[in-house]
Amino acid sequence: MPKFKVAIVGAGLTGVFFAIALEQYAPDVEFEIYEGASRLSEIGAGIALQARPWTMMQATGLDKELLKIAGNGERPALAVLYRKSDQAEGFQFSEQIDNSFTFARAEVQKAFLGRLHASDRVHVGKRFVSYHQPADGAGPIELRFEDGTTATCDILVGSDGVRSAVRASMYSHLAQAAEAQGKQQEADELRHHAHPVFSGWSIYRTVIHKSGETAVHPAFNRPTFVFYCGRDTHIVTYPISQGRALNVAAVIKLPNLEGKIYTGPSSSVASRDEYTDRFKGWESDVTEVVKHMDNTTKWAVNVVTKLPTYVDGHAALLGDAAHGMTPHQGAGAGQGFEDGFLLAQFLGRPDVTTDTLHIALQVYDEIRRPLAQKVVALSHLSGQLHSLEDPDVLEDDGSERALTPEELRRLGIKIEKVKEWRRVTSLLDENEVSMRRLAEAIGAARTS
Ligand SMILES: Cc1cc2nc3c(=O)[nH]c(=O)nc-3n(C[C@H](O)[C@H](O)[C@H](O)COP(=O)(O)OP(=O)(O)OC[C@H]3O[C@@H](n4cnc5c(N)ncnc54)[C@H](O)[C@@H]3O)c2cc1C
Repeated sequence: MPKFKVAIVGAGLTGVFFAIALEQYAPDVEFEIYEGASRLSEIGAGIALQARPWTMMQATGLDKELLKIAGNGERPALAVLYRKSDQAEGFQFSEQIDNSFTFARAEVQKAFLGRLHASDRVHVGKRFVSYHQPADGAGPIELRFEDGTTATCDILVGSDGVRSAVRASMYSHLAQAAEAQGKQQEADELRHHAHPVFSGWSIYRTVIHKSGETAVHPAFNRPTFVFYCGRDTHIVTYPISQGRALNVAAVIKLPNLEGKIYTGPSSSVASRDEYTDRFKGWESDVTEVVKHMDNTTKWAVNVVTKLPTYVDGHAALLGDAAHGMTPHQGAGAGQGFEDGFLLAQFLGRPDVTTDTLHIALQVYDEIRRPLAQKVVALSHLSGQLHSLEDPDVLEDDGSERALTPEELRRLGIKIEKVKEWRRVTSLLDENEVSMRRLAEAIGAARTS
């Protein structure tokens, strides 16, 4: 008999990674994955995994497959060049080192699915709509799907992305509970968290497969990250697919829409006119890259508001459903992997049983939420700095001004500092502390 039945809603990178971690750390836990799309496919271009996510890839044995498809081969460190590029003669203002491996997303997804032993447990075409959980926590959670079918589980995990239906259902329940206690203002605030809001950034992404001119031009062949920066706009390139292709993301700020609910699609086919004008007059490497941007997809980056909880009884949020963030630190998926890595290890512990499950989920929330929300804030700040906005350098009237070369050099130091956590913190050390925290919480509950 399995210890628990887990329903995972969403077979994106974080949902599938969580299932892999369950197979490894909680073999007595059974899971089913419900994916709304009719087939599994990862959209988007490249993805970078830094030291913390890489630790998890090594722990789950995924690293071997991933090394075969890394953009930079087996070298874990890539240089990161920051350039002032919104002028004909650009110049480099900072060079840093990033311990990242870079990949094409579709190749990562293939590696993850290849590693999942119980692939028959992925059910496609199952669009989740809502859940019902007995008020006293006794008895299974019932899931309802768009096709009219239902399923049950002991634990519901929503990894269904930034527009999560699990989050919407969870926050509707939490709001109703607040209303039942006469707390109308709290209920209104809780309902507000159901929907993501527009981050103020649109990103035009493509992969340039090198051939002809692009196989020899330096702009396409640097084995580094390059951030070509300008005001309110920057463009990031890095090698993927063992250097055979270049990942390109043109990042454009639309500050007037920040914080508003965005009703359009998260991604759509983009026309050249939407972004080429923003790069007129930029240094020649940029105009060359932009010239070769074909088959470009526009991503309207939505973010999840700062949630007061990731957990409702035996339902929990994971990945972008919990903390969809801006991509300026390339950390969103990594944070989702950290959620799943910890939760799987919690569920696999012998002292986590039907009686103590609620404690494990509360400790998951207590540990993961502040960490992920800190990364959300740091990522937002990175976006500002990459756009050459230094909050410490303003005119006397509070308006922004162009930075001098010396101020740009200092900006480079700030950019590095804001990303420092990715390099200097140890996920495994933190996990040990988390395990001790859970043991204490369970011990305290038993003695009380
Ligand atoms: C431009 C850009 C660059 C990025 N670069 C990086 C990077 O370099 N490194 C990094 O770590 N992160 C990066 N990120 C962030 C990263 O892409 C996301 O954090 C990550 O893909 C989120 O994965 P997820 O599985 O949580 O959500 P998703 O990938 O959105 O997957 C959600 C899944 O749930 C399914 N689903 C949705 N609704 C339902 C439903 N109702 N019922 C059933 N299934 C449903 C969807 O079909 C999908 O399969 C970047 C993001 C962007 C936009």
